[in-house]
Amino acid sequence: MSADIIDGKLLAAQLKERLIKEIKILRNSVKEVPRIFSIVVGNDPAALSYAASQQKTAQSVGIHYELQHFKADSLQEDVLKLIGELNGYDHVHGIIVNKPLPAHMNFKTMINAIAPHKDIEGMNLTNFGLLLMGEDGILPCTPAAVLELLKSLRTSLKGKHAVVIGRSEIVGKPVALLLLKEDMTVTICHSKTIDLPLVVRGADVVIAALGKPGFVKGEWIKKGAIVIDVGINQVDGKLVGDVDFISAQEKASYITPIPGGVGPVTSVMLMNNTVKAFKLQTSL
Ligand code: NAP
Repeated sequence: MSADIIDGKLLAAQLKERLIKEIKILRNSVKEVPRIFSIVVGNDPAALSYAASQQKTAQSVGIHYELQHFKADSLQEDVLKLIGELNGYDHVHGIIVNKPLPAHMNFKTMINAIAPHKDIEGMNLTNFGLLLMGEDGILPCTPAAVLELLKSLRTSLKGKHAVVIGRSEIVGKPVALLLLKEDMTVTICHSKTIDLPLVVRGADVVIAALGKPGFVKGEWIKKGAIVIDVGINQVDGKLVGDVDFISAQEKASYITPIPGGVGPVTSVMLMNNTVKAFKLQTSL
């Protein structure tokens, strides 16, 4: 058996097309476009590069993007003051605080200062609480991308066994909650799980999000399972996932590649969330 590759780039392009149309309609009807305000503190290359890529994706779909760059030695209270002001501006629909922040700042404090309906990364406590309660909030982008990729296969998820490897607040836990909402039977694994291969062997859907290159082996995968690899790891200058792609492809029915799987869809989910936030704020 050789798995079909789930083409994240293609799905991202299709989702972008849909958003472009939707934003055009909004521009014509309410004479406004969704607007993102993004904050970077300091000069960490990862934060700067993430912001640059957000800007490119936003502009490609017609979303307005503004960046505020604070110096590394800025005070946390100054950034919080700006977030407070942005919460009250009608023309700002989404706020992003880019990671990493300088050591003297607290990311959770920043995220929780964003008004929930402007939290387009879906990471503050209110949105997490809504997800936990199975209610409609703004979803975190990577978990939302995992769900989009699974739904794109048009195969029923109901009742199937999903094994999520990783229990982080940004990937593992929210992915598990989303899959539970899809009526899947969900097992969450972590670094203390006893006999991970045995647990993974029982999975119809494997979500790997542990941050260890090639850790999940093909021999652990049940024949015909769906494998979504969230991991992004640099090995010898190349990007690799958390799944040993070659051996897993022999067993799975569908598998995401790295790069070109979860990543491109995640970027579009941020824009999707911005449009959702815009609609929430303009009562559309
Ligand atoms: P994280 O915060 O480091 O969490 C890793 C999780 O994996 C933890 O829950 C940890 O368990 C678990 N784990 C570590 N070693 C394990 C092992 N040997 N067996 C089972 N579980 C193990 O990482 P993250 O932020 O969730 O990210 C996970 C991966 O996804 C990374 O490669 C990251 O780069 C990637 N990522 C991709 C995207 C995207 O858009 N594609 C977005 C975000 C992250 P404990 O809780 O017990 O420590």
